[in-house]
Amino acid sequence: NQALTASTVKTTCPYCGVGCGVLATPQRDGSVTIAGDPDHPANFGRLCSKGSALGETLSLDGRLLHPEIADRRVTWDEALDHVANGFMSAINTFGPQSVAIYGSGQLLTEDYYLANKLMKGFIGAANIDTNSRLCMASSVAGHKRAFGSDTVPGNYEDLEQADLIVLVGSNLGWCHPVLYQRIVAARAARPDMKVVLIDPRRTVSADIADLHLPVSPDGDSALFVGLLAHLDHAGVTDSDYISAYTNGFEAALLTAEDWSVERVAVATGLAPSAITRFYDLFARTRKVVTVYSQGVNQSAAGTDKVNAIINCHLATGRIGRPGMGPFSVTGQPNAMGGREAGGLANMLAAHMDFTPEAVDRVGRFWGSANVAQGPGLKAVDLFAAMARGEIKAVWIMATNPVDSLPEADAIRAALKACPLVVVSDMNRHTDTMDLAHIRFPAAGWGEKNGTVTNSERRISRQRPFLALPGEARPDWWIIREVAKRLGHGHAFGYESPAEIFAEHVALSAFENGGSRDFDLSALMDADYETLVPVQWPVRARPTARMFGDGKFFTPDGKARFLPIQPPPPFAPAPGTFILNTGRVRDHWHTMTRTGKAARLAAHLAEPFVEIHPADANLRGIHRASLVRLSNQHGTAMVRALITDRQQRGHLFVPMHWTDQFASNGRVDALVPGKTDPVSGQPALKMAQVHAEPV
Ligand code: SF4
Repeated sequence: NQALTASTVKTTCPYCGVGCGVLATPQRDGSVTIAGDPDHPANFGRLCSKGSALGETLSLDGRLLHPEIADRRVTWDEALDHVANGFMSAINTFGPQSVAIYGSGQLLTEDYYLANKLMKGFIGAANIDTNSRLCMASSVAGHKRAFGSDTVPGNYEDLEQADLIVLVGSNLGWCHPVLYQRIVAARAARPDMKVVLIDPRRTVSADIADLHLPVSPDGDSALFVGLLAHLDHAGVTDSDYISAYTNGFEAALLTAEDWSVERVAVATGLAPSAITRFYDLFARTRKVVTVYSQGVNQSAAGTDKVNAIINCHLATGRIGRPGMGPFSVTGQPNAMGGREAGGLANMLAAHMDFTPEAVDRVGRFWGSANVAQGPGLKAVDLFAAMARGEIKAVWIMATNPVDSLPEADAIRAALKACPLVVVSDMNRHTDTMDLAHIRFPAAGWGEKNGTVTNSERRISRQRPFLALPGEARPDWWIIREVAKRLGHGHAFGYESPAEIFAEHVALSAFENGGSRDFDLSALMDADYETLVPVQWPVRARPTARMFGDGKFFTPDGKARFLPIQPPPPFAPAPGTFILNTGRVRDHWHTMTRTGKAARLAAHLAEPFVEIHPADANLRGIHRASLVRLSNQHGTAMVRALITDRQQRGHLFVPMHWTDQFASNGRVDALVPGKTDPVSGQPALKMAQVHAEPV
C-alpha cells in the first residue's frame, strides 16, 4: 500500500471491465509508482498482475509522437486537413454511407461521445462500430430483448453476498482477476458459498469451483434451457413474480419442456448426474449470481445464450436483489461507457435506439437536421463492405483489427484496398497502424483525461499524471479538429473533456423523465475534477441495483422471457479440431501495452496451443514443439502446450500475439467471420482447424 502524496493522482486501470481504482504517483526519477486505490469500490486497494505492472508500460519506446502522412512527418494542420478533405470527398462523391469509424472499448466516454456525435449526428450515417462488438454485443442484445434496455442489474457486492456463483464461459481468475479475488475472499469468510464453473476448458477458475462442467462448445444454451424446465418441475419458480412483472413465461417453458436431462446430456457432452447436481444446486439456492463473459457472448448463438440465462433468473425472481442476478462482466475498461455514448452501429446515443422519436429528440438536442435515420454496419459487416469497395474512407481509433477481428488476413486485405485509412493510436507500429495512410499520434493512459464505466455501471475518472509526449493529443481533441474542418465547428466547440461530459450528462437527462435507464441527471452540477466513482442511473441518488422493484423498460414495463431453441451440437469435420480462443493472465488485447513489461511477458513468453495429451500423441506433437494450425482462412504457428485441462478434440490458443511479437502467431486469422444473427458479435471461440507438427 502506498501513502498518498501531493503528486498522487486517483485514476482507473485501462485494462479490463472490473475498472479498478489506481493511485499513480510520479517520482523524481521519471518513474511512476502504482498502487490500488483503497477507496475505490471496485477493488478496495487490490490490483492484479497487469494493473500492478502499469508503471512498467509507460515508456515512450515505440510511441508515435507526431502526425504522419504516407510515412512522412507532417504538421497537425496538414494531417487534419488531409483527413477532412478525404472524408468530405468520399461523402460528396459516394454519400455518407461510404465513410466509417471503427473505435474501441479503450476510448474514454468523452472520445466516444464526440466520435458518435460526428458520425451519427453530422455526417449523417451510423457506420461507427467498435471492438466492443467483439466483447459484449450479445449481452447488449439479450438485455434489450429481456429488459427493454441494456442494463446490468446487479453489482460486485452481489458476488460476495451470493450463496452460489455460476461462472459461465468466464475464466474470471485470469480475465477479471480482482473480481475473482473478491470471490475467493468472500468464500474464505463464508465456506458454504458454492461456485460452479461452466467452461469447455478446466481453466484456473476451476480451482475454486465445487463443480466444473466441461460443456461442449455452445452447449451452455441447452444447459440453461434445460435448467428452466427443471426449475419448474422442482416447484421453485416464483409464480407471483412471473405474473406481476414478466411476459412470455409459458412460451419459454413450453420450448424448455423438450429438454430433458438426457437430451441436455447429449447436447452438452456432460454426464446426466453432473447436470442434475448443478440443477439441484441452482434450484435450492435462493441467492444465485450467474456471471457470464466471452464464452457466452462470442458465439453465433450468443444472444440466445444470454436470454437462456436471464430466463432462469426471471423465473425465480432472482434479479435486482442482493446476491442475485444475471451478471455480464465486460471485457474492456470502457465497453459500457461506449454503449452509453451510443458507440455501436445499431444504437443512436444515450441508450436510445433509432426510433423516429429518438432521432428527432437527439437531432433537436444536437442542433442537427442530418441525424442518421437507422443503424449502420456492424464490425464484421463493415470490413466486408470495405472488401467490396463500398467503404472509401475509414478512421480506426485505439484498436488493432488486423489482429483482433475474425478472418484477420481478409481484414488486412480489405484495409489495403481501402482508398483512405486513418489510424489514431499511441504506437507507431501495430499491424493495423502499418497500413495507415494517415497516422494521428494519440495520447494514452496517464496522459488522457476523462471517464470510463465498469461492469457494474460505475463511472470513474481517468486522470492524467504525465505530460503529453511529443505532439500527441487526446482523441477528443483530434475528433473535434476533424469535425471543425468538416464544417461542424458550431457543434464541436469544446475546450475540455469536462464540457463534453456535461453534454453527455445533459443528453442522458433530456426528455427522459425516468423513461430510459441511462440517466445521469443528478450529475448536472457535479464537479468533473473531483467526481467520485458513481453507479448510474444517477437520478436523485446513485442506483446500486436495478429491477428490484419489478419495473423494466419495455413498453408495458414487464420483463420478457424468450423461448430459446438451442443450436445443434457442432460436429467438426473428421481429422479437425475445434479451436477456442481467449486471454492469458498477463497480457491485454494485442499486447501494445503489456508487451512492454518484462515481468508480464515472463508469464507466458510466446503463443501456444493447448492440446490434450492423447491428441498430441496421435498427431506426433511433442511437448514444446512447434505446431502448424491451418484452415481455409489462414495459418498460425504456435508452441505445443500439452495438458489435460483441454478436452480431447479441442484446442485453445490465446488471442494476444501479433506479427509484431511472434511471426505467424495471429490466431484470429483462423477464425471464420460467422456472427450471431441478433447481435452481430463474431463467434471467436469456434473455429475448425487442422493441427500438425512442424
Ligand atoms: Fe486492471 Fe482488471 Fe486487473 Fe483491475 S482486474 S487491475 S481493472 S486488469
